Amino acid sequence: MSSGDETRRTAVQTQGLTAAEAAARLRRDGANVLPVAAPPPAWRLLLGQMVHFFAVLLWVAGGLAFVAGMPELGVAIFVVVVINGVFAFFQEHRAERAAERLRDLLPRRATVVRDGAPVEVDASELVVGDVVALGSGDRVSADLRVLEAHALRLDTSTLTGESVPVSVEADDVALAGTFVVEGEGFAVVEATGSDTRLSGIASLTGTGERPRTPLARELDRVVRTVAAVAVSVGAVFFAVSLLVGTPASSGFLFAIGVTVALVPEGLLPTITLSLAMGAQRMAARHALVRHLESVETLGSTTFICTDKTGTLTRNEMSVVEAWTPSGAAGVSGTGYAPEGEVRAEASAYPAIRDLARVAARCSTGRAVEREGRWVARGDPMEAALYTFARRAGVDVEDDERRVPETRRFPFDPRRRRMSVVVGERLLVKGAPDSVLPGCRETNGAEDRLAEMAQKGLRVIAVAARNITEVPDNADEAERDLELLGLVGLEDPPREAAAGAVAACRQAGIRLAMLTGDHPSTAEAIAKEVGLLGEESVIVEGRELPEDEAMLGALLDRDGVVVSRVEPEDKLRIAHALQARGHVVAMTGDGVNDGPALQQADIGIAMGRSGTDVAREAADLVLLNDDFATIVAAVEQGRATFANVRRFLTYHLTDNVAELTPFVVWALSGGQFPLALGVLQILALDIGTDLLPSLALGAEPPRPDSLKEPPRGRHLIDGPLLRRVFGVLGPAEALVEMSAFVAALAAAGWRPGESFPTGPALLAASGAAFAAVVLGQMANAFACRSTTRWAGSLGWTSNRLLVGAVAFELLALAGFLFVGPVASLLGHAPPPLWGWAVAALAAPAVLLADAVHKAARRRRQTAPKR
Ligand code: ADP
Ligand code: MG
Repeated sequence: MSSGDETRRTAVQTQGLTAAEAAARLRRDGANVLPVAAPPPAWRLLLGQMVHFFAVLLWVAGGLAFVAGMPELGVAIFVVVVINGVFAFFQEHRAERAAERLRDLLPRRATVVRDGAPVEVDASELVVGDVVALGSGDRVSADLRVLEAHALRLDTSTLTGESVPVSVEADDVALAGTFVVEGEGFAVVEATGSDTRLSGIASLTGTGERPRTPLARELDRVVRTVAAVAVSVGAVFFAVSLLVGTPASSGFLFAIGVTVALVPEGLLPTITLSLAMGAQRMAARHALVRHLESVETLGSTTFICTDKTGTLTRNEMSVVEAWTPSGAAGVSGTGYAPEGEVRAEASAYPAIRDLARVAARCSTGRAVEREGRWVARGDPMEAALYTFARRAGVDVEDDERRVPETRRFPFDPRRRRMSVVVGERLLVKGAPDSVLPGCRETNGAEDRLAEMAQKGLRVIAVAARNITEVPDNADEAERDLELLGLVGLEDPPREAAAGAVAACRQAGIRLAMLTGDHPSTAEAIAKEVGLLGEESVIVEGRELPEDEAMLGALLDRDGVVVSRVEPEDKLRIAHALQARGHVVAMTGDGVNDGPALQQADIGIAMGRSGTDVAREAADLVLLNDDFATIVAAVEQGRATFANVRRFLTYHLTDNVAELTPFVVWALSGGQFPLALGVLQILALDIGTDLLPSLALGAEPPRPDSLKEPPRGRHLIDGPLLRRVFGVLGPAEALVEMSAFVAALAAAGWRPGESFPTGPALLAASGAAFAAVVLGQMANAFACRSTTRWAGSLGWTSNRLLVGAVAFELLALAGFLFVGPVASLLGHAPPPLWGWAVAALAAPAVLLADAVHKAARRRRQTAPKR
């Protein structure tokens, strides 16, 4: 070992900066954060809301109204665009603020040496001169010069686009924004914040648009389709009106009316806000989504692939058993505290102690006392091995001082083992199936391994060998080993895991456990958390079929356990399940899990353990690492998804009621008068409909939302359209037209006669308007559930909705009884008969909805029995 050897000593011996010096430098140089571009000024954003696609459509309609000599209409449309724009602006502002708060929840951490001891600090607190410890999976948070490298390789693709990891030696630089994909090392900070190379690049590309997400694209498609339909239906009506001989101007009015009726003005911002609120609710339950759209995807998850360690289990490890060829030992003690006992026969004790010493020397994880409690620092399993050594009476620090380590081949999840050179010995620890084949003799270790694994213990094999010179290549060195023994660690399941697994099953979500651990250990834990079921399969990663279709067929069932899995397997599994139509959520913590996390529809990383690489690739970060949090997030995702569908249903029903008068008019060849005019439609869309749809977007999650199978992944689907166009819409429209006719009849009109004009027609139009508003009030309640009768939910359980509906009633009164407003809208208060029929709209909508729901329930349960 040449220079690397010296720098190693530099790094280990360095005291780093003192806390006081670091604080002073932080004050001098500022925080280690990239300068963020100032957000666009509010007026620009507000303007943006007025010039997007729909707004432009409406501007054009308004302008044409002026041209056609209808200035009130033109002004009214313009007012609508502005109100709508202001509204959307505030909604997006709220959504953006919510997203910002979420970003602050996930700080970046870095381990630095300060005052001679490693401490974890927020990456924003790094200062020039800090000595940083680098480990596999870490994100480099400042520009560094490497002091010491052990097989250190960096992924620099974020900076250079180069996808092959580069090897880094002492004296090389490691730039902010790159990732450690392999190895370990120490480095000193040379530049932070805006002085980093990344900052230069970021400010070059910082103005780039955010990429469009799948949901945004789908919404775009929905919106454009609706707009195209609106415009072409409008054009058809214009043509029809010319054909039947209406004057071009009023034909034109109709065309605008149809277009305006169909354009879903407030849709997009309302959806964004719903997602943001869903994301906030998730964060409150420790699930952090990195993109708002993931809220929706989570709701449609059908398959969850989870790992074991730390997600289903607590990741609080303790050694409970040890075995050596000369005898076995039991270990007692709680947690990571050094107090505890290693019980072994006197003849076996020296071997046990050597086993413990070597295991600890192979570990960088340590147990430290913090505020009177012993906790793990670094890898919890390694910390447990360290504690084991202390309980066996080994002074690990003293051992390190006497014989320092001269070379380290870090743990690699593919090899499943690691080794260090200490004095004249190469010390190896790893998964038994990886270490035992390299041992000269195993002395019956296999039997003990099977016993330990069946109890659910994680088993580590420890081996060593004498060497004469320091090897360069791990695989060549790690053979001809002498087996020192096996260590069995306990990692109890999380309390909430079993409940969450059961909840998944009830929610119709399939579950697979993918773990790098031993098959028997995996099976034991799977059994403990209730993951094993009738259709379960238990396979090893290498037994998985090559063929994707076969792989999918094998895994597409509930309760799969794949042990000894490799990152590449995970990627294939995600792909194969997606090919079978699943929406896959997959956890990953390792440095090689990035591709699988990106392939999955929802990549999930751990906020506490796990690597920066995984977090950066993930869509969802579990702030508490707990499997149950995934299920909570799915539940919230479903709730949000349902809310968006609720107000879509609500809004589209209104559209049916708005469109019907035009259809009737057209079908009658222009004989039957128009029951609703354009301004009335705008009053419905903007005046009375807005608040209830917002309130529907805020429905709290249903307690039973996890009791149903997953829904499809599309917002607008067959059942929704059938409900709107087959049930709710027709019910509302029928009463609307009936109220119109009833009011005409009250004014003396009889079938076969020609229709009245003037005040009688205005009052009839008022009746139709009232019917739609009253119908929508009931509809708001009907839309709260797709399966249950509105009354069973409790009429007042969504307070916001009660308020919104009360406001709707007030607005109705205002629109009808405030003289100037009523005459602008082109209607008048209806006669008594008009009111009487209009009032039926509410019960009619509720009744139609209840009957439809009951029929659907019967149909769904009948064929199964
Ligand atoms: P898991 O899915 O349980 O997190 P990993 O892929 O992390 O599994 O680890 C796979 C196996 O590698 C473990 O069962 C263990 O035997 C071994 N192993 C894990 N971490 C280390 C380590 N730091 N040193 C040596 N061996 C390890
Ligand atoms: Mg692991």
